[in-house]
Amino acid sequence: MSSIAPTVLDSVPDARGRFGPYGGRYVPETLVAPLEELERVYAAASADPKFHAELDALLHDFAGRPTPLQFAERLTAHLGGARIYIKREDLLHTGAHKINNSLGQGLLAVRMGKKRVVAETGAGQHGVATATVAARLGLDCTVYMGTEDMERQRLNVNRMRLLGAEVVGVDAGSRTLKDAINEAMRDWVTNVRTSHYLLGSVLGAHPYPQIVRDFHKVIGEEAREQILKKEDRLPDWLFACVGGGSNAIGLFNAFLADGSVKMVGVEAGGRGHTLGEHAVRLAAARGFSGARPGVLQGTYSYVLQTNDGQIATTHSISAGLDYPAVGPEHAWLADLGRAEYTAVTDDDAIDAAKTLARIEGIIPALESAHAIAELIRRAPKMNENQLVIVNLSGRGDKDMETLSRYV
Ligand SMILES: *Cc1c(COP(=O)(O)O)cnc(C)c1O
Repeated sequence: MSSIAPTVLDSVPDARGRFGPYGGRYVPETLVAPLEELERVYAAASADPKFHAELDALLHDFAGRPTPLQFAERLTAHLGGARIYIKREDLLHTGAHKINNSLGQGLLAVRMGKKRVVAETGAGQHGVATATVAARLGLDCTVYMGTEDMERQRLNVNRMRLLGAEVVGVDAGSRTLKDAINEAMRDWVTNVRTSHYLLGSVLGAHPYPQIVRDFHKVIGEEAREQILKKEDRLPDWLFACVGGGSNAIGLFNAFLADGSVKMVGVEAGGRGHTLGEHAVRLAAARGFSGARPGVLQGTYSYVLQTNDGQIATTHSISAGLDYPAVGPEHAWLADLGRAEYTAVTDDDAIDAAKTLARIEGIIPALESAHAIAELIRRAPKMNENQLVIVNLSGRGDKDMETLSRYV
């Protein structure tokens, strides 16, 4: 692990948007120019102190950054192993880390002179974050959402509409996230001169995986500073759940060059090992079938697919982890062995949510509960000198209907 030089990690993605063999830009001709425009505008914005000042002010005053790094005193005692710290992204405005990226891309849209943003959403968290940012910045907003997800997440549909967004139901395919992305991309192709596609995770064609990572790397930068202040040393372990992978890479990024910091990404093990029952793209070594490299929605990464290359259906109790592909940077970190990927079942995630609620007084999002579950499994085997940071990507309010069935 420690053999990977920082310079290698700093240089990704390369000019073609590649993380090792992964990433890139697999899009129809019509999207090449707008993606190049986004790349140019983003490069100029990142070099502009005014852009950073504006974003920092919004992150601070509107979204609630910095988020606390909380010592989980009772969970640490309960598990009897490592010292556990929780990065509290659940305390952000709108209830999850997603607002970091929505604010950043919202400002990019303004910079590009685009008056409208288009987004996809699964559980509705990214849709709500984007509708919120659009209202704050005075942009029109259209959110595409599978009709299956609209039924499961009625509250978030109402929140988006109250915020002034148009929510468009998508009835195609499995009527979930993947289908919503297809429709959002179709809209973008048609309205590309007036609209920015505000993509919600480290997925899609270059430069999206890089942009979304960069807008979330504040999570790890803060956590690093906070742990050094509290413990005077770096953590030994990081844990985060991985849907597309944005909250995980946001935490991991600031520690990638520190060979001593071990990183664990936790995917959705769902309710079984067979294809269709889980959303495990990288932890295939654990017996989950169906993932291999392929192209989905603009990027080359690990994709769950049938033997003849059809995109597989997926299952997870948490909508935010229920997607057949994973961010290309995670695929690369997995190949390198720099991060380890594992999976947690629906049932273990529910149990972890209950444990965190009762022991720390925090109801986590079901996505985040996957990271907590893996921590609960491992922390007791660690000694008390080991320091752990777990990313609590979101709060559980949106999942209360599901959680209520289990208490
Ligand atoms: C959307 C979401 C996720 C999954 O997305 P990533 O891009 O993998 O972070 C995880 N946790 C919460 C709370 C979410 O809303």
